[in-house]
Amino acid sequence: MPFDQDAAATLDQLLGYVELSRASARPVLRQDSVADLIARMELQRHTSDGGLGGAELARFVERYLECSTALHHPGYMAHQVSVPNLTGSLAGLMDGVTNNAMSVYEMGPTSAAIEFFVINWMLGQIGWQPAPADGSPTDPPCGGGVLTHGGSLANLTALAAARNRFAPEAWENGSPGDLAIMASPMSHYSISRTASILGLGQQGIVKLDVDERGSILPDCLPAALDRAHARGKRPFALVANACSTPVGIYDRLEPIARFCSDHGIWLHVDGAHGASALLSPSRRQLLQGIHLADSVTWDAHKLMQCPVLCAGLLVRNHRDIDRTFQQDASYLFHDQEQPGVDFGERSFECTKAGLGLRFFMTLGALGETGISRFVDRQCDLAASAYDLISSTPGFECATRPESNILCFRVQGDDALQMRIRAAILGGGSHYLSATLFRGRRWLRIVLLNPATELHHIQSLVDRIAELRAGMCG
Ligand SMILES: *Cc1c(COP(=O)(O)O)cnc(C)c1O
Repeated sequence: MPFDQDAAATLDQLLGYVELSRASARPVLRQDSVADLIARMELQRHTSDGGLGGAELARFVERYLECSTALHHPGYMAHQVSVPNLTGSLAGLMDGVTNNAMSVYEMGPTSAAIEFFVINWMLGQIGWQPAPADGSPTDPPCGGGVLTHGGSLANLTALAAARNRFAPEAWENGSPGDLAIMASPMSHYSISRTASILGLGQQGIVKLDVDERGSILPDCLPAALDRAHARGKRPFALVANACSTPVGIYDRLEPIARFCSDHGIWLHVDGAHGASALLSPSRRQLLQGIHLADSVTWDAHKLMQCPVLCAGLLVRNHRDIDRTFQQDASYLFHDQEQPGVDFGERSFECTKAGLGLRFFMTLGALGETGISRFVDRQCDLAASAYDLISSTPGFECATRPESNILCFRVQGDDALQMRIRAAILGGGSHYLSATLFRGRRWLRIVLLNPATELHHIQSLVDRIAELRAGMCG
């Protein structure tokens, strides 16, 4: 079978999968064993025979899709991974065929130009100065950034940049033993991993005080700094959440930024999930003060429908990131002889996918207005879900949502919440996650799905109430 026919047949199957998923005509997930899946997809036979194409390919794709998790299913409310816009998904194919790994400009001028454009777009949303496309210097220095394979790597890169600015000798000699990062106990685990990777160790994390919603208490920051100093630590960066992973609550950036600027501390805003609220006129005040930060992580593959994955690491002053991975930073732009920009200078990664293309094609399909409406819709849905669940007898919400994440539990212990989650997943009609918050287990929904409506959440709640009644007698 020629490739064009294989491609057309595969596309048909993919669209069928999306249709079935959207119509809830298949389970949102099923988790067969690894051994079963290897057997069903006939991985060994295909490996030995080769020639995957035609009817063989069609059968393989069918089995692959049949057992895949159906993110387009309205019951998918589990994780922060987007339900991708299909035009954005086409970028995966374009990227796969062109294979323009674009860390150096000559390997992918179009995808590098798109990365440059997308970073500038993000910088503009934050309120930072975009970089001139001709590479001319600006006064004051313009912002900068790089796209990475995920917010975790963006966080690592941001804190490496912060460490290098504070202790430039660390590149040569290793991190001084007294460096520390101030972070909320609600921080994403990539922050604690970063502390160990940068050589600060877990002892190099200064935990900040938070309110009952897990939002940093700005008034307690001076005392936290004093405690750090008393332990012989020198905090060089503070990580604020916008918003937090478990419950989607925003830290108050403005007073935190004031504290950081008073003490020469780099403010990193981890907006992997919630920076997309910048697109919403009614919600962007949650991010008030974000432009005062030194760096921001912003994932396009969460609240902006971009297919996995595309994370932006943005900095207010491009020089901070140009010096992260080399001491004698050659400028991002080539000299006059050679055209283009080399994002490899700003990145830990060497070979890199054309991440910007996925996001750009999503952005191009929805437009800024479309994304703005989408963010509002999903956050409004979370607010309605909160009203619904908190008024249902036997249910309790962790906190009123500020984003599209909602945590709740039913009367009963932690084990009951987990048994209920397992039963729901087994049923295949809904898919939700669970998290620890304030020392207890909560069921958690992340409303990223344009197909999910309030009645899908109502049916989840009904199902949970039924299961609880069955489990508790
Ligand atoms: C999701 C998330 C991350 C991790 O981002 P990935 O793209 O999954 O690596 C980091 N921080 C926060 C606050 C997040 O919500």
